[in-house]
Parts: sequence; C-alpha cells; structure tokens
Amino acid sequence: MKNQFKITLTTSPKQKPDPKNLTFGKVFTDHMFVMDYDNENGWHDGRIVPYAPLELDPASIVFHYGQEMFEGLKAYKTKEGRVQLFRPDMNAKRTNNTNRRMCMPEIDEELFVDAVKAVVDVDKDWIPEGKDTSLYIRPFMIGTEPKLGVAVSNTFKFIIILSPVGPYYEHGLAPTRIYVENEYIRSAMGGTGFAKIGGNYAAAMIAEKKAHDMGFDQVLWLDAKEKKYVEEIGTSNAFFKIDGEIYTSSLIGTILPGITRASMIEVMKDWGYKVNETRFTIEDVFKAGEEGKLEEVFATGTAAVISPVGELFWEGKTLVINNNEIGELSQRLYDELYGIQTGEREDTHGWIVPV
Ligand SMILES: *Cc1c(COP(=O)(O)O)cnc(C)c1O
Repeated sequence: MKNQFKITLTTSPKQKPDPKNLTFGKVFTDHMFVMDYDNENGWHDGRIVPYAPLELDPASIVFHYGQEMFEGLKAYKTKEGRVQLFRPDMNAKRTNNTNRRMCMPEIDEELFVDAVKAVVDVDKDWIPEGKDTSLYIRPFMIGTEPKLGVAVSNTFKFIIILSPVGPYYEHGLAPTRIYVENEYIRSAMGGTGFAKIGGNYAAAMIAEKKAHDMGFDQVLWLDAKEKKYVEEIGTSNAFFKIDGEIYTSSLIGTILPGITRASMIEVMKDWGYKVNETRFTIEDVFKAGEEGKLEEVFATGTAAVISPVGELFWEGKTLVINNNEIGELSQRLYDELYGIQTGEREDTHGWIVPV
C-alpha cells in the first residue's frame, strides 16, 4: 500500500454478534477510519481509531445545509480465509463524481482504496463467514465548518465505518411488492439523482413511508417531469426482462449509477443477453405484463445484491410477475455475483481486490 495510516487500537473490544442473527447495519466494529480536510493542508491525518461518537460543532454545515455524501461496498471472507473487496476503485470514482456536484473536495482514488483496505484489515475478524453474510463498508464525508451562512464548507471529515451484515431483507431472496410512486419525485434533470447523498434519501422518505404504510416493500420512481419513465426502485437500480431481452433505465443524470448495475449488465452480456439501456415507460411495462411478455423484474444494489420483484402496483392496477416467484435469471445472477464476491466462482473480469 502506498498510503500508511496511524493506528490506535481499542482497549475495550466489543462482543461480536451471532453470525446467524445478523440484520442490516445495526452493529458496528471496533474501529473506524477518520481523515481531515482543510484548504491549506488538503486531506491529511488519515488514521484508524476506536469506533466512537464524533464531537462536532452544532453549527457545522452538514447539520443545516446537508453538505454530505456516502458510499457503500462490502468485504468478504473466502473459504480459504482470504479477505477481499468488490470493485472498490468504482466507489472511489463515484465518490469524486458525487463530490464535484456537491462542491466537496475530491479524494485520490488510491488513498480512498487504501483507507478502506486498512480499516477492513484491522477489523477483519469481524467479517462474518455464514451464507449470505459480509462486512458492509460505509465511507462518508461531511462538511464540518461552523457557520450559518450558506456557503461551501472549508473543512471536511472523511470517515469509514464497518458493519457485519446478513441478508438485506429478513426473508432473504424473496420477491417484493413495489408501489409505483406517482405523487412524489426523487430527482429531476439538473438535480442530484446521480450523486450518492443523504439529501436524496431525506427527500424520498415520505414516499417510502407511504408505500410501507400501504403494505408495500419499496417504491418504483418515475421521472420527475412526466411521471412516465421508469427510473429506479428505492435504493437500487431496476431491471426488466421482457420477451427475452433486458431493459434498464439509461444513466441520464437522474439515476444512481450502481456498481452492481454495471456488473450485472456485463455478466448478462457475457451470457448472451441483449441489454437495452434506454428510456421506457411504466405503461410499456404494464402492457408487456398484460401480454404475458414480462418475464422478470429485479432490483440491484450492493446491500441486497439482487431483489426480485413479485408485484407492481400502479394507479390502482396490480401486476403479478412470474407468479410471485424468484425468476431463473434473478437467481442465476445472484449466485454468479455473490459467488465472485466470496471467491466461490472465477473472477474473469478482474473485479476482486485482495485486502
Ligand atoms: C447506492 C444506490 C444504488 C446501488 O448502487 P450500488 O453501487 O450497486 O450499490 C442504486 N440507487 C440508489 C439511489 C443508491 O443510493
């Protein structure tokens, strides 16, 4: 590693959770990575310290104007005990893409990946080994300058925390019920839809709450202008298999460019599928469903890898997909990707980075 960090180990290690009862993102490891930024020194003082609450000035920009971003990736332990990451360079690139939009300082890609490796290495005993488990890695950045005038912060903190996780959904790879949202919007052209920021989530919570209250698992977002075109499903990218071909929304600035999305597209192309990255309407999807041509719908993201959709609800109409069962392609994609991530399957694309 090019970058070395000062390590302060905890004197009171925590009890590790039972790997059989892991939920998502509620338990954190013993350490975290912290690095500071100011205009004179740039990024400096990268260090690994015991996991602990932060002390921040209540006037910090992040609390008032939300200058903030985050990332998400995972570390896996192979059967042989090797520790590995999946495409962390893509998270580094996306961080800088987000940061340019948010007027936050970029981070050298190698520094980003080295910081992830270093903190994962210190807490590698926290990586669970059971089926469908992994160590979720959450890098994030906040504007810390204390001032109430709206302006770009001059100081930032970059932090990485780690959480051992089980399956994202309580019932594992089970089909979900999705509400097609036609009142609220997630992102518009010129906005921040492509950036991974808390603000996008804060503004979307009301729709997710509405969907949950009605008994749905997630929302499917339509484009903000015409409420016609399919964009994403909750916190993941959406794929549709129609008459043997794959459709997913093109990256036009309103959609988060998922690393799982990009990887699934490559894998499906390897398998000979025609993958259309395009704009298509929810009406097209329902029409395909009514004609019996909609074979599978699934959502992809780091947290869940893949989440099959069993039902879509849109303006009073319900569309059941694949008899509410996990589709053949969804299962095959999950097995392939999780297989590569955990070293059970050959990594022909060079996606795996050892820690
Ligand atoms: C993180 C995220 C995704 C999935 O991205 P991955 O890189 O595959 O984890 C999709 N949509 C939104 C809104 C996200 O925040």
